[in-house]
Amino acid sequence: MVTGASAGIGAATARRLAGEGFSVVVGARRLDRLRAVADPIGARALPLDVCDTESVEAFCAEVPECHLLVNNAGGALGRDPVAEADEEQWRWMYDANVLGVVRTTRALLSKLVASGDGHIVVIGSIAALEPYEGGAGYNAAKFGARAVTTVLRQELLGQPVRVTEIDPGMVDTEFSLVRFGGDEDQVAAVYAGMQPLTADDIADCVAWVATRPSHVNIDRLVVLPRDQASATKVHRRR
Ligand code: NAP
Repeated sequence: MVTGASAGIGAATARRLAGEGFSVVVGARRLDRLRAVADPIGARALPLDVCDTESVEAFCAEVPECHLLVNNAGGALGRDPVAEADEEQWRWMYDANVLGVVRTTRALLSKLVASGDGHIVVIGSIAALEPYEGGAGYNAAKFGARAVTTVLRQELLGQPVRVTEIDPGMVDTEFSLVRFGGDEDQVAAVYAGMQPLTADDIADCVAWVATRPSHVNIDRLVVLPRDQASATKVHRRR
């Protein structure tokens, strides 16, 4: 099951996992976009809003069994300093990135355990490791998701369920378009003169961690483009 699979990393992950032989179920809010991802790969597309507990429970109830949950749905809104924090944006970031992981994981956990070989993957971010100016709302959310992931790993010790966090740096998806409310100039500035990762690069990481022998738990992968050395240090060509 892949959450937030109508675009970007989630869509690429769904395609890659289908290619690896997984029977894939995808969820997101935009069903037309979701079906365009699911239909060509023979995946099931189901409506999902990770900010809505009922929606998450309905999504998870649709599957009789689950071996792999990829908690990918989420993102950032805005890059305002704390002094100008927009509470609505902060609330959405916490709801989608933290509670979204909690709701989906909670609803699927008994099935993951019952599978005898379950795996929870959380798409975090370098923002979960390095706070940066203008990033506090997203940093706080991804730090939160990271805490949930770390605690899950401890609480599930002894159960047949692996827990992995994948923390990407800059990936060229719709992430920045969403973050900057559709402002193309701001999006262009983010990736100007540098080569970001692609969604397929992160899908490759998900497929790799999910296909290790089941006694091997990859705890955390931090994956940056060669042109990026930290959350804010980026090499740009003229
Ligand atoms: P994206 O292209 O904007 O895709 C985001 C996906 O999340 C979309 O499919 C969207 O689908 C879904 N989504 C958003 N809110 C949702 C909700 N409430 N319920 C269900 N689905 C929801 O961005 P992306 O880069 O692939 O982001 C995927 C994950 O990677 C996010 O957690 C993001 O924080 C993380 N990440 C991204 C980057 C980057 O540079 N791109 C770096 C580090 C981490 P709908 O709108 O159709 O619901």
